[in-house]
Amino acid sequence: MANWLDNSVKYVAGVGEVRAKLLEKELGIITIGDLLSFYPFRYVDRTKIYSIAEVNTSMDSSLVQVRARITGVAYSGTGRKQRFTAFASDSTGSVELTWFRGIKWVEKSVEVGREYIIFGRPSFYRGEVQFAHPELELVEQALNRTDRFAMQGIYSSTEKIASTLGTKGFIKLIRNAWAVAEKHIVERLPEWLLDQYSLVPLRQAMHDIHFPPSAERLKAAERRLKFDEFLGVQLSVQSLRSDRLSRRNGFLFPKVGELFNDFFNNRLPFSLTTAQKRVIKEIRQDTVTGYQMNRLLQGDVGSGKTMVALMSMLLAIDNGFQACMMAPTEILARQHYATISRQTEGMNLRVAILTGSSKAVERRHALEGIASGEVDILIGTHALIEDCVQFANLGYVVIDEQQRFGVEQRARLWTKNQQPPHILVMTATPIPRTLAMTLYGDLDVSVIDELPPGRQPIRTYHYTDAARLKLWGFLREQIAGGRQVYVVYPLIKESETMDYKDLEDGFESIVRDFPLPTYRVTVCHGKMKPQDKEESMRQFKDHEADILVATSVIEVGVDVPNATVMVIESAERFGLSQLHQLRGRVGRGGGQSFCILMSGEKLSREARQRLQAMCQTTDGFRLAELDLKLRGAGDINGTQQSGMAFDLKIANPTLDADLLQTAREAAIRVLATDPQLQKAENQPLRTLRERHSAGQRFDFSMIS
Ligand code: ADP
Ligand code: MG
Repeated sequence: MANWLDNSVKYVAGVGEVRAKLLEKELGIITIGDLLSFYPFRYVDRTKIYSIAEVNTSMDSSLVQVRARITGVAYSGTGRKQRFTAFASDSTGSVELTWFRGIKWVEKSVEVGREYIIFGRPSFYRGEVQFAHPELELVEQALNRTDRFAMQGIYSSTEKIASTLGTKGFIKLIRNAWAVAEKHIVERLPEWLLDQYSLVPLRQAMHDIHFPPSAERLKAAERRLKFDEFLGVQLSVQSLRSDRLSRRNGFLFPKVGELFNDFFNNRLPFSLTTAQKRVIKEIRQDTVTGYQMNRLLQGDVGSGKTMVALMSMLLAIDNGFQACMMAPTEILARQHYATISRQTEGMNLRVAILTGSSKAVERRHALEGIASGEVDILIGTHALIEDCVQFANLGYVVIDEQQRFGVEQRARLWTKNQQPPHILVMTATPIPRTLAMTLYGDLDVSVIDELPPGRQPIRTYHYTDAARLKLWGFLREQIAGGRQVYVVYPLIKESETMDYKDLEDGFESIVRDFPLPTYRVTVCHGKMKPQDKEESMRQFKDHEADILVATSVIEVGVDVPNATVMVIESAERFGLSQLHQLRGRVGRGGGQSFCILMSGEKLSREARQRLQAMCQTTDGFRLAELDLKLRGAGDINGTQQSGMAFDLKIANPTLDADLLQTAREAAIRVLATDPQLQKAENQPLRTLRERHSAGQRFDFSMIS
């Protein structure tokens, strides 16, 4: 369907070829529609004019307006260092306005003796208020403007955009685009939906989101545009669901066979928790229906998800299928392999491993065994999704710590058999069901809400460097009692070199302060060779080392029950869910475990809240909630990286959960009367659905 808004943005007045390229490169804006869907991320109230005395340090770097008369100007510096300063004052005080660029133009537009509305970000120097590169507008002119909106949108920008277009220039482009596009914006929702859910018309919403005449109108516009995005997503999710359920091409696992029974009766090392039993039952029920299972298993760290994975894999094998389990890191994959091999030793079952660093023999063994059907369970990293991995009859896929995998990576596992295998996705990061559906598509959710018995809650403390001696003393005590200790350093991609230096320095000082032969210290980080990493993990696991110094590579899944202390260095640099994951490495055996969060004295408010929350609770669900709150809107990006299936510009599934629910309901109603979206009036909805599905890149039914 040809849509006028799909025309290139270069036809907008003030854009042209060069700027069109720039907009595409910097902001991904290609069409006029893209430009108009580039919404402000924030608004400033332009009805509010402060007196100079009111401008104070709490407004540092936020946009404000003052009304003041220019009292004089000055030039200083020469050449590239040249600057132009204007002095302005009102009855309450004076400010300095400075320009470093575009001086020729500014000096012409600033007239001494006249009064201006000054709009910009104040900074403070020795009690003086300064504005660098403010916008100026003569008071008479500003007050007479008819297109003066109460609120002005602030658009996110890049350095290039800011230096070529500037804030004002960008807004002008939006205005120009609006002028030509307005009449081409046609309503896409049927009348009854607008009525039913009290939504404002699309054209009004598009106008108001850029040029809000009032706070109320802005709110209504935001609600309408968010609704559309959610509706698109939900139409896609709900269509998929009915599609999957109509296909009835799920493998059948009707039998509880020899392997499962043998394991359950003779080898289970502990009794299952009620929650584990319930989830296994849910999986069992799913796999006898004839529908493909798509299940998300949420369970806090240490809740015993691996056992559920193993037992459900046995179920698949009992019914003549192969199973595979994908883990996000080499260490974790190796650990699963070791645990599962040990727990199933002597059974009529072949387990193989495949990772990126598998040597030729191991690799051949895995690939051949999997292709011939000889191997029953393949455990590995994302190496499992490579094309050369061909299963004889893959029926069941477990994905561990799924938040670490992108949608695409997961989707490729689905294609490893003619019919899609059943999928169990496991995560320790709990999210509400509707949110999960939005983020990961069409799936059912199981929860392990109970820890194995006998676990004592981990005690968490926050120390600064001043307490290091005390901490060292404590570690010595624990080690003397036969316990083991983790010391973890952050590793952030951007500052990797520095991070490794921190870790190396830390390691050296620990080796010095905890000397042999009393203390055995080992180290494990991403830069080491896989076999060295593995060896160091083995030493720790077999208690040949007392202290493991590591980066967050050990964050997920590592299981050493005798380790009782987790020291997290520069803890303020970790996110809440990461901290919780790391803490989950201890408290896995009997006995009291401890988590020590080390940080500097100076902390941002948010970091302090995170560390406080960690000390207050060990409940992963509560922490996850708090995490979402603390991260707020910024969360979207993080979620996207972690595999969000949908393209959302303005709606935030976390913050707008209610609206998401509403849109879900609306989608179900629409599809109830027109399941294929075939009616003429629903064609725009079809477009909306396509825009918000990730299906352009691969078959959507394969995304969990
Ligand atoms: P996670 O859910 O974080 O992946 P794991 O599967 O690694 O947790 O299990 C954590 C620890 O708890 C492991 O040492 C595991 O053997 C043990 N465990 C699992 N289930 C039970 C149970 N029902 N009773 C006692 N210990 C259990
Ligand atoms: Mg795990």
